[in-house]
Amino acid sequence: MNTVAPSSYTVKSGDTLGAIAARNGTSVSEIMKANPQLKNPNSIGVGQQLKMPGSGSGGGATQGGGSGGAPQAPTPQQRPPSLENKPEEQSGNAVQGEIFPFWVKPTADWKTRPRYFGSPRSNGRKHGGVDLYAPVGTKIRAIADGRILRGPYYFYDGTYALEVVHPGIGVVRYGEIKAKLAPGVGKDVKAGQHIAFVGDLTSLSISMLHFELYKESAKNDSTLSGGGPFRRNAKLIDPTPLIDRLFKKTFG
Ligand SMILES: [Zn+2]
Repeated sequence: MNTVAPSSYTVKSGDTLGAIAARNGTSVSEIMKANPQLKNPNSIGVGQQLKMPGSGSGGGATQGGGSGGAPQAPTPQQRPPSLENKPEEQSGNAVQGEIFPFWVKPTADWKTRPRYFGSPRSNGRKHGGVDLYAPVGTKIRAIADGRILRGPYYFYDGTYALEVVHPGIGVVRYGEIKAKLAPGVGKDVKAGQHIAFVGDLTSLSISMLHFELYKESAKNDSTLSGGGPFRRNAKLIDPTPLIDRLFKKTFG
C-alpha cells in the first residue's frame, strides 16, 4: 500500500471537498475531522488551507467516477445500513469458485444504454464498467476469493468504491457503494462474502453496483484512473463476459 504523508492543500476555484477527498484518497469526513474549523462541508473558500489526513484509505488516487458531473460532498451515514434479507441471503458466505455479486438478480440488464461498458457519457467519456441496478442497501458479495486492495474511498455522487484483487480474474472496483462494512484494506475475502452495500446516489433516483474490471497486474497500480475515453488506466477490461458467466453460474 502507498501511504500519503500528512500534508496541506490549498483550495482552488471549482473545488469541492468531495473532489479534494477523492484526489487525496481520503473521505470528506476524514478531512472534516482533520480541519475542525470547517463547519459546513459545502462551504470552502478559494485559497483556504486544508490539512490533509494521514494515510487514510491509502493511495492518493485520483478516482473520477460516474457520469461526469462535479463530485459532491457525501452526507455522512449515521444510520447503519439495513437490508431485509430473504432467507437464502442469510445462508453461509463461503461458496466454491465464483459467484454473481448480488444474492438477487439485478433489476435491469447490463448490456443496454446507459448501463453497458462503453456507453457514452458527457464530455466524450465512455462508461468504464457495467451497472447492475438494485435498490439502495442491496448486499454485495465478493465474486471470488481475493484481497481488499483499497477503499472504501469516495467515488461519485455520494457513493464510495472498493478495490479487490481476485487472483485469476483480475482487479475489481466495486463502485457506487456505501462507505460502511468493507472488511478492511489488506484483508482476505472469500467468494460469496458480504463486502458492501449498494449506495445511494445523491442526484439519481436509481441505485446500482458500478462494476469495473482490470487486469490482475493493476493490483500494483497506485490508481485505476487514467486517460483515453474511459478516463481509466490501460488495464481496464470489458467486464461483460465475466458478469454474463457469473449470472449464468448463479441464477442458471
Ligand atoms: Zn456505472
